[in-house]
Amino acid sequence: MLTRVGPARTLAGVTATQRERIGIFGGTFDPPHVGHLVAAVNARHEARLDRLLLVVANEPWQKSGLRDLTPASDRLAMVQAAVDGVAGLEASDLEIRRGGPSYTADTLETLRSEDPSRDLFLVLGSDAAAGLPTWEGVDRIRKLTRIVLVERPGSEGGRPPEGFDYEVVSVPLLDISSTDVRARCVDGRPLDYLLTRGVVDCIRRRRLYGVRP
Ligand code: ATP
Ligand code: MG
Repeated sequence: MLTRVGPARTLAGVTATQRERIGIFGGTFDPPHVGHLVAAVNARHEARLDRLLLVVANEPWQKSGLRDLTPASDRLAMVQAAVDGVAGLEASDLEIRRGGPSYTADTLETLRSEDPSRDLFLVLGSDAAAGLPTWEGVDRIRKLTRIVLVERPGSEGGRPPEGFDYEVVSVPLLDISSTDVRARCVDGRPLDYLLTRGVVDCIRRRRLYGVRP
């Protein structure tokens, strides 16, 4: 049997290396729930991404001041627990290491400069896609990436503005939000099946959202 190792050969005999397809799924993840995870694994599959980074916002500037945010280190720990053992999904602390307000345009530029040959894909829920015009550096985002859009219940039909390159991928619709999960923690309502066991354990261990071990 012939096993091909290394770069592929085109018909013309020119060596062509495979371009990495890397996805960025940014969020506050306060906390990460199965709506995020089901969207992430299916977006990765449908868009044929080699890997998808769940990038934890250091300072989600559009939310700052509106409510108390869980410290970024706790949100990162929950995302690490959520993706543990899931092929192709990775928790990223890139925005936390950079510090300050988290602009997706900066994150895309960092990932591009690390490897100029890779293709960048930005996974967005339809609510986030519709809000793109309000984002910092929206023109840079348009130039750097293709959008992989997943519908989100309550915001179906939300699309990026004119000029963006995007594809809509099909994912199971789950009407779950971090806002609802936080309210459940406060009220003592069940969290089962909305969060992975690892995330629930992490919340208990770190006593987040008023939940006791
Ligand atoms: P919050 O209620 O605190 O705003 P959230 O559930 O909206 O939290 P975010 O961290 O704000 O979660 O969202 C990050 C990304 O995940 C966004 O692109 C958002 O559209 C997407 N997303 C969140 N929940 C879902 C869901 N249930 N289905 C599909 N996409 C989702
Ligand atoms: Mg949100």
